[in-house]
Amino acid sequence: MKTQEVQKLYSEFVLPTYTQIPICLVKGKGSKVWDIEGREYIDFFPGWAVSGIGHCHPDVVSALRHQARKILHVSNNFLNLKQGELAREISQNSFPCKVFFCNSGAEASEGAIKFARRFGQKDGRFEIITFRKSFHGRTLGALTATGQERIHQGFDPLPQGFQYAEFNDLDSVKALIRDKTAAIFLEPVQGEGGVRIATQEFMTGLRKICDERGLLLMVDEVQSGMGRTGKMFAYQHYGIEPDIMTLAKSLGAGVPIGALAVHRRVEPGVLGPGSHGSTYGGNPLVCAAALAVFKVIRKKKLLSATCEMGGYLLEKLKALKDRYPVITEARGVGLMCALELSAPGAFVVEAARSRGLLINCTQEKTLRIMPAMTVSKRILDRALNILDSVFAEWKPEGNV
Ligand SMILES: *Cc1c(COP(=O)(O)O)cnc(C)c1O
Repeated sequence: MKTQEVQKLYSEFVLPTYTQIPICLVKGKGSKVWDIEGREYIDFFPGWAVSGIGHCHPDVVSALRHQARKILHVSNNFLNLKQGELAREISQNSFPCKVFFCNSGAEASEGAIKFARRFGQKDGRFEIITFRKSFHGRTLGALTATGQERIHQGFDPLPQGFQYAEFNDLDSVKALIRDKTAAIFLEPVQGEGGVRIATQEFMTGLRKICDERGLLLMVDEVQSGMGRTGKMFAYQHYGIEPDIMTLAKSLGAGVPIGALAVHRRVEPGVLGPGSHGSTYGGNPLVCAAALAVFKVIRKKKLLSATCEMGGYLLEKLKALKDRYPVITEARGVGLMCALELSAPGAFVVEAARSRGLLINCTQEKTLRIMPAMTVSKRILDRALNILDSVFAEWKPEGNV
């Protein structure tokens, strides 16, 4: 089969909900992927941030094979050793918590929303404050939590009880708090919103507001978690503890798993038997993969590698910014980096792709660069050279 034939299958049989890149990827290894024609690419947005430890990490593949020979799935009414071990692993790497497992980031958001509603119910509270340019997933509750008009469009009536504040603006949060407020839900680093990093003052301030008003502080670490920012979870940069944390994406390194971690101080009595569930959630197969991910991060010291490589990458991105006026800012934390442009970034994404580098553009003018945590300096340099050559020949129209 060739790319064109796969495209034909899509145009006939697959709902066109995604903007389609005309490349059919069939193989991945570390920071590289190959298309069906055998062309090689450096992948600097691996699996939409899922392949955080690189594509097909051998330890994950081996854990999957090992588990697949034993049992793939058991009902959540039975005890499942891998799920218990993974919940412990998440808690030991974050805060004292109990964990619910689901299959995606959106489902983890739904779990957080349901928890907040049950938590607030006894005193009539149900509202959740989220942020403009946030992203929490595409199911009805999660998309309503998402503070982006274009994601709401056409799905009325949306569920009630969501208020949108400005990111990094404590006053805008305070202005929205009322008797009905139950929780504040945010990404410590907004991913789809353009790699916008919460300030220390903002995070400390939110924690303080939540403590004073008895609100839940819920962090969405679906994109920023699992080492991406150089700490296991991005909230850990701020010296605060959330009440709720959601995970997905790189937790499973390619198999669908999401998680909702609830702090022990708020957990008791909120979601008891029968209140929430998921048939697949946390089955032995996906939990075996996630356990392997934690092990790889520890064994290969990927948190310090991410700090080191991230520092190097950001320095080089800043050097690019100094040379090309179309770049207005280079920012990042760990290996979650972005270049802010004064013109739409689609050209750069396409030109880089034709030279063998895959990156992403979000919010029209933000290039998102998120290499795998296992990336080498050599591959970083190769990718940076490609970016350099693209900027060197780019003549964006209009005022730059
Ligand atoms: C991707 C993402 C989600 C949604 O995850 P899905 O697995 O696509 O449902 C939620 N929150 C954040 C921060 C994300 O980046």
